[in-house]
Amino acid sequence: MNRSNLHKRALQLSQKVDYGLFLLTALAKKSPAETNSLKKIAESEKMSFFFLQKIARDLLKAGMISAERGKEGGYRIAKNPRDISLKQIIEALEGPVAVMSCLMEGKKLKMLCERIHGCRIRLRLSEINTEIESTLQGINLEYFLTERLEEKNTALPKKIKKPYILKIENLHAGLAEKNILRRMNLTIKSGEIHALMGPNGSGKSTLCSVIMGHPAYHIQKGSLLLNGKNIKNLPVNERANRGIFLGFQSPSEISGVRMENFLRLAKNTGIKSLKGKTRLCGPREFHEFFEKHLSDLKMPQTFSERDLNEGFSGGEKKRGEILQMAILEPKIVLLDEIDSGLDIDGLRIVAENIKKFQRETGAGILIITHYQRIFEYIEPDFVHVMKDGRIIRSGGRDLARELEKSGYEQ
Ligand code: ADP
Ligand code: MG
Repeated sequence: MNRSNLHKRALQLSQKVDYGLFLLTALAKKSPAETNSLKKIAESEKMSFFFLQKIARDLLKAGMISAERGKEGGYRIAKNPRDISLKQIIEALEGPVAVMSCLMEGKKLKMLCERIHGCRIRLRLSEINTEIESTLQGINLEYFLTERLEEKNTALPKKIKKPYILKIENLHAGLAEKNILRRMNLTIKSGEIHALMGPNGSGKSTLCSVIMGHPAYHIQKGSLLLNGKNIKNLPVNERANRGIFLGFQSPSEISGVRMENFLRLAKNTGIKSLKGKTRLCGPREFHEFFEKHLSDLKMPQTFSERDLNEGFSGGEKKRGEILQMAILEPKIVLLDEIDSGLDIDGLRIVAENIKKFQRETGAGILIITHYQRIFEYIEPDFVHVMKDGRIIRSGGRDLARELEKSGYEQ
């Protein structure tokens, strides 16, 4: 029995740790005022009561849970889930984490092995242990609470026949001379809105470039799966044809390229890539379609004459990115700091258009931002914090409020 779902993540836990995690998450989900009878948990989950009792004793000893006696006696979580790491849980239940060690480790009889000094294998073993320890240290109980959230089914509009899933697994990527993303994991499904926050330089824009296939970035390790297929070797246009879209943090100005023509050609390229559907959009038909989208975004009709982003103000560029999204109708949308540079009305219009688009198409959306004000219009299902190239915390809408109040350095 694997209750924590970790088996899906290439990490196999012992049954004792798996049960321990289940017990901790069950207790952490209750309010601090509630106490829970082990017997009831064991009965409702069909777990062995005696085994669960043994686990509870170990967790109690480690100070992760507390117990109360008496008629209504039971257990409750004793610490903030964020302060309970997977490493501590494993150590409380199974003892010290050491995957492999040298037989000579800790022994005085060092002379038995001639190579103990400067032995490279021993060094490698210690590096592996350190890496595993830091991974386990980086995962906390809060992560498992969010995992449960992730399992919730987001309602999709009826016209969506096929849900899309973008899955980033243990991704290590960066520039040739610099590793930026490390152990990055994130799954975005149709119908979900994810918010990605985090200090400057933590790798948020890099993540977008890597997902989109910017040629300057290299993937060293890990996978990038769209509906189960690895897309990491596909060129940018192929990824776009398959439904991934990036709204840039700083869109480039391209003079000589009319925005309307550019978008008509891009739209038709997308249509051509679809099997079976070949009716392309002619210039007149597209013009009407384009004007409707301009007016949805409260952009003057004169924008149909303008070159792509040329001379656009910061806010106009951001509206332009949303215009592209609405016209190209992608399935997975990445919006990099779409709210920066927008005035109050601009923010509301952009946010309302994102929300409308998501409601109508059921796209999965990742919104990168520093401010929670955009969430007053669009409610994110998940909020993630990125630091040093990976996600260090995940939670719900409240996490964004908390970050705005107390910053990232807590
Ligand atoms: P964020 O979007 O979270 O602010 P970025 O992904 O833009 O962060 O950057 C992550 C790190 O990678 C930063 O330290 C940044 O300076 C570095 N970086 C990004 N692009 C380049 C580049 N072209 N050359 C050198 N360093 C870069
Ligand atoms: Mg950025």
